[in-house]
Amino acid sequence: MRRRLVVGNWKMYGRLDRNKALLEGVLAGVRDFTSADYAVCVPYPYLAQAQSALQGSNVAWGAQNLSQYEEGAFTGAVAPGMLMDFGCRYVIIGHSERRGLFHESNEIAQAKFDAAIKAGLTPIFCVGETLSERESGVTEQVVATQLDAVLNVFGAKGLAKAIVAYEPVWAIGTGKTASPEQAQAVHAFIRQRVADLDSHVAQALCILYGGSVKPGNAVELFAMQDIDGGLIGGASLVVDDFVAICRAAAK
Ligand code: PEP
Repeated sequence: MRRRLVVGNWKMYGRLDRNKALLEGVLAGVRDFTSADYAVCVPYPYLAQAQSALQGSNVAWGAQNLSQYEEGAFTGAVAPGMLMDFGCRYVIIGHSERRGLFHESNEIAQAKFDAAIKAGLTPIFCVGETLSERESGVTEQVVATQLDAVLNVFGAKGLAKAIVAYEPVWAIGTGKTASPEQAQAVHAFIRQRVADLDSHVAQALCILYGGSVKPGNAVELFAMQDIDGGLIGGASLVVDDFVAICRAAAK
């Protein structure tokens, strides 16, 4: 039986005072939800704040990106070891905003995945199609190519220490959610692709859905067989909404 996981992706939002209220609210709200796991991925400057607020609680924390390099003259980049210094458990890799706005290719996502695993971080590896790709009927092809960036190099075992997030690009921050059936179909496809290589890894693999998850749709999404929780953007910035989604995962 896989445990559900809900991860907040704060993106480039937050200030010290707002974060304090948000972290305190989330902590108080999810304290008694012991049957699922929770985390928030915060902007780099707030990792220390997250660490000091969340240490010892049932909410883990992580980053939204990392460098594929261990150290060196890479101005503005943040090394995997630096994230470990701040107690991060998770790091988001291959988010569509990184792929789209910052031109991160499958090769870069693969290198970052490798760097995260080597440092002892758990990658949350994002895959998902654009609207035009969905409308052209190539969703599975796109998701398979993104997934294969990891599978071809590290095999199914590479995913044994990772989490996959299916995030249809057209559903991120748009208020449009994939229907539970649409999301389930892609989640099942992902699990089957991994199962073709290793059925044990596939069965244990945590596959999150991301894309406008809200309190009003979380219960039905999380009820689907292959949806193991959510990667939550906008709603993770609102205490009541995030706690309600966390509650949906705890059922
Ligand atoms: C995300 O940023 O990963 C995301 C799913 O955002 P939203 O929930 O706002 O669609």
